[in-house]
Amino acid sequence: MPRYEYRCRSCGDTFELNRPMARSSDPAVCPEGHADTVKLLSAVAVTGVSAASAAPPAGGGGGCCGGGCCG
Ligand SMILES: [Zn+2]
Repeated sequence: MPRYEYRCRSCGDTFELNRPMARSSDPAVCPEGHADTVKLLSAVAVTGVSAASAAPPAGGGGGCCGGGCCG
């Protein structure tokens, strides 16, 4: 179930709610009981995943070859 973030305009607090997508635009009540809230555009957004590490895993060397001691 997607999570939506809301901000209360009465107390300025932000809170999150898990609710069906079909009800994402329903009015949300802040934990303090205020009904004057707005939905924020966040939470569900995709975060940047840095999977660009092309380096081979370390610890693959057990011998001395490659270090210069075999030559
Ligand atoms: Zn509030």
